[in-house]
Amino acid sequence: MLRNIFGYDRFRGAQAEIIAQVVGGGDALVLMPTGGGKSLCYQIPALLRPGVGIVVSPLIALMQDQVDALLQLGVRAAFLNSSLTPQDAAAVEQQLLQGDLDLLYVAPERLLTPRFLGLLARSQISLFAIDEAHCVSQWGHDFRPEYIGLSLLAERFPEVPRVALTATADDATKREMVERLSLGRAKQFVSSFDRPNIRYTVVTKQGARQQFLAFYRAGHEGDAGIVYCLSRKSVDETAAWLVKEGVAALPYHAGLAAQIRQRHQARFLREEGLVMVATIAFGMGIDKPDVRFVAHLDLPKSLESYYQETGRAGRDGEHADAFMTYGLEDVVSLRRMMAGGGAPEAIKRIEGGKLEALLGFCESAGCRRQVLLAYFGETLTEPCGNCDTCLTPVDTWDGTVAAQKALSTVVRTGQRFGAGHVIDVLLGKETPRVLSLGHQGLSTYGIGQEHSERAWRGVLRQLVAGGYLSTDADGYGTLKLSPRSTPLLKGQETVHFRHDPAPQRVVKKGAARPVDTLSGAEATLFEALRVLRARLAKEQEVPAYVIFDNKTLVKMAELKPRSLAQMQRVPGIGEVKLGRYGQAFLEAIVAHGG
Ligand code: ADP
Ligand code: ZN
Repeated sequence: MLRNIFGYDRFRGAQAEIIAQVVGGGDALVLMPTGGGKSLCYQIPALLRPGVGIVVSPLIALMQDQVDALLQLGVRAAFLNSSLTPQDAAAVEQQLLQGDLDLLYVAPERLLTPRFLGLLARSQISLFAIDEAHCVSQWGHDFRPEYIGLSLLAERFPEVPRVALTATADDATKREMVERLSLGRAKQFVSSFDRPNIRYTVVTKQGARQQFLAFYRAGHEGDAGIVYCLSRKSVDETAAWLVKEGVAALPYHAGLAAQIRQRHQARFLREEGLVMVATIAFGMGIDKPDVRFVAHLDLPKSLESYYQETGRAGRDGEHADAFMTYGLEDVVSLRRMMAGGGAPEAIKRIEGGKLEALLGFCESAGCRRQVLLAYFGETLTEPCGNCDTCLTPVDTWDGTVAAQKALSTVVRTGQRFGAGHVIDVLLGKETPRVLSLGHQGLSTYGIGQEHSERAWRGVLRQLVAGGYLSTDADGYGTLKLSPRSTPLLKGQETVHFRHDPAPQRVVKKGAARPVDTLSGAEATLFEALRVLRARLAKEQEVPAYVIFDNKTLVKMAELKPRSLAQMQRVPGIGEVKLGRYGQAFLEAIVAHGG
């Protein structure tokens, strides 16, 4: 089935075991990172077992694409949600009752209606798949009250296997899923959360937009990607600026009218090479497989959010980049947002801890992937070789004396100023503020001239990230000493800082993409195949990757099959797609002298 319907040669990770468990009638809890291949884990069992597989998903916007992709494979699939007209919904219900469906996607609120439960009682059901199962967790970001009601499935249909799937792995969420979805007897499949094809890069912020543009031009021109900004205003400004620079960019945030948001999302999914500039309002369930980069121009909220947001890149397993610019001002504004939330102290403490972990990641002089995975409880024994610090090792320097000078200056100026003024005093600048406050008379005035202003920014930022200095919640970035700074000031502790590399040094060309390995003639053929794919996609109003993904087209351009039998050896081409498109693509290959 994997070969004939889906066109793949072997299972990935735990797919085969999970499928065996569910086909045998058992329950399963599947924790797998985005792009790991969760869908096959219920699609194949649904096809192997008699009856229809019911897939519960909160992502109404995605059901259409998933069903389109399955129909392309010759699988009898449909969805039921509020976007259907009553007539269309009635037709799907009819198909269900007649046993004409292999898979039916349904929103949880619809599933739980007495009417739908009545239909299910009259149908043969092969399995229930509960996608995005973490939505049952009340403490998570994506809590959906309707998910609580899904406990009813175990009571009403005890003999039907249930498989719950998610990419959220922390223990608390896992326990809640087991409890609320009655998965006590389920076999648990927990995959590694590493995404080896994603390259993590964090640069210190020096004009975030320009830095992003340099990154984009160095290896991602014409690629689809997401650029995250903190505020709606910066989303609008960044998108407009990128368009002016010749980048096909679209804005997306909750302040835009619903139709505009929908249109932009649809264009991003269907067209090739668009850059979506967005707040975090964009992304839940975006499963476009060929997003080549996710860039954060502002600091994300936590490492969990960062992992989730960057996880939208490279779901197809091909090389992808996670790029972030980060500076002291990010820490200041994040602290302000947290303090402004009016949250109870306990929550603020947790948020504070999360911010610290995130800063530790940003400031790490060691392998980023090791830091990231350690945060999620996994150990990576060797440095990964695919993050900025692995590729360009970071120099560190003994910053004890510099730290003492900076901390003393903060004390001498009365712990009432932000980084700018503290640096002016260290460098001995005669600014109006220095003069009006008489700070040129301080003993620390001008004691820091051995370092540049940029270096001092790095020192202060790392002192804040390391917990030696705190920034006030006042939003002005006022620096104050933390208790942790005492041993450092007394000379009982030393500290090492990273040398912030100059911006041009860290922007490197991404790893070779499969497309880049094609010879000149093959690349021309690839472009021709792409044009054909675009035409077919347009005719059927489906995204291009639903026809064939890039990997398949690249292989086709390399192998240049001359018969349908040869064509079927190309990964990603199952029987139905072969029948539908094989001939057209063969002709294109012949026309190009392949
Ligand atoms: P998830 O839901 O876990 O994020 P998907 O099920 O959407 O991931 O799968 C991600 C991508 O990997 C899809 O393009 C899918 O076709 C592909 N894929 C899944 N399983 C395999 C496999 N065994 N071999 C090759 N490609 C696979
Ligand atoms: Zn690394």
